[in-house]
Amino acid sequence: MNSKGTIEIRNKALKSIIGRHPWVFSGALKDIPDNLTIGDVVDLIDENGNFLGRGFFNPNSQIAVRILSFDESEFNLDEVHRRIGRAVEMRKLLPEYDQNSAWRLVFGESDLLPGLAVDYYSGFVNVQFHSAGWDRHRDEVASMIVELTNCSGVFDGSDSEMRDREGLLTINETVRGDDPPDRVSVSEFGRKMDVDIRRGQKSGLYLDQKFNHQSILRYARNRDVLDCFSYTGGFGLAALEGGCRSLSCIDISESAIEQLEINAVMNNFASRSIELHNGDAFEIMRDMLSVGSRFDLITLDPPAFCRSKSAVVQACRGYKDINRLAMQLLNPEGILVSCSCSRPVSDELFLKVLWQASVEADREAQLLNFSGQAPDHPVLLTFPESKYLKCATLSVM
Ligand code: SAH
Repeated sequence: MNSKGTIEIRNKALKSIIGRHPWVFSGALKDIPDNLTIGDVVDLIDENGNFLGRGFFNPNSQIAVRILSFDESEFNLDEVHRRIGRAVEMRKLLPEYDQNSAWRLVFGESDLLPGLAVDYYSGFVNVQFHSAGWDRHRDEVASMIVELTNCSGVFDGSDSEMRDREGLLTINETVRGDDPPDRVSVSEFGRKMDVDIRRGQKSGLYLDQKFNHQSILRYARNRDVLDCFSYTGGFGLAALEGGCRSLSCIDISESAIEQLEINAVMNNFASRSIELHNGDAFEIMRDMLSVGSRFDLITLDPPAFCRSKSAVVQACRGYKDINRLAMQLLNPEGILVSCSCSRPVSDELFLKVLWQASVEADREAQLLNFSGQAPDHPVLLTFPESKYLKCATLSVM
């Protein structure tokens, strides 16, 4: 992984690099040497020739360099191995490690491995390469993952949308060992879930939500629960375990709802009162409101409503509408667990939207807890973009 060239950085971008932010945008680069190609390692210097950092170069991406190292010593595959190993060990040190068999082992920039994500599901790994530099080292990285995790197979589950933005083609295939079976059985805090690593959403599960799933257990007892945007039942299964009186789930994905039903059976919840709705959550919630259905605990976990700052206003309208609907559907003293995974929506803005929703619903609400993504998706302090998930628990009077 030797450096293939040197690029001078414009003064306006120095502050960000000195603050150890790992992204360098294309506008920050002065002359780019002709010989550089996509995926090369480059050195960055200031106008006086001082070394600033070393990273993967991609002329086709807005993020033209992803910095791998801020010191001048050689960056090589041994260092990649050390960083993946360190990331895996960090997860093992989490007190909840043994209660879960699915974890994000590497979270890109946050684990000092920009553009690389590694998700572990009971012996199978879904790896995502979202930066050009990794493509050249796909095989080596897969071998490291096998060695460090003892997994039986490594599947390249790279997200085509994210790779598109980098100007890269996507090949979803097994890179090492066995093909993952159609269903891999994992445990989330003891709850069984079958996961489709190849075709499921994200890499199979929303691993970032597992601690938030667990947090609703204590609110569920004897309550009528509505799990909106349920996917395969992350929140719903926790509500069942917590002893809810009834569970209703809504998701637009038919395969997710089918899997949720199977997951409920696998956990011996088949005899419980469970209603599954396959369709649009906005519509179904409006219908529920008009026929007088009411709940005591509602979880709202919609997909990201925006990816860029320019779409924030529109997104907030969506968040306000869905949260107002949820508050209207709650009995007095009901609990609303409301999430947003839109990165450009800050904690403060999300709370403001919830406030607006409560005014429109004519319901006072109190914030009982505010959390984020699970600790296997750590936030790197020098990379605030790694913080994206918001999860507010409200008591709605
Ligand atoms: N709560 C889940 C994750 C939800 S991700 C968990 O913790 O595991 C968002 C989900 O919203 C996806 O399952 C997706 O299929 C669903 N979805 C997207 N648009 C929707 C819509 N308009 N109505 C209902 N569900 C929708």
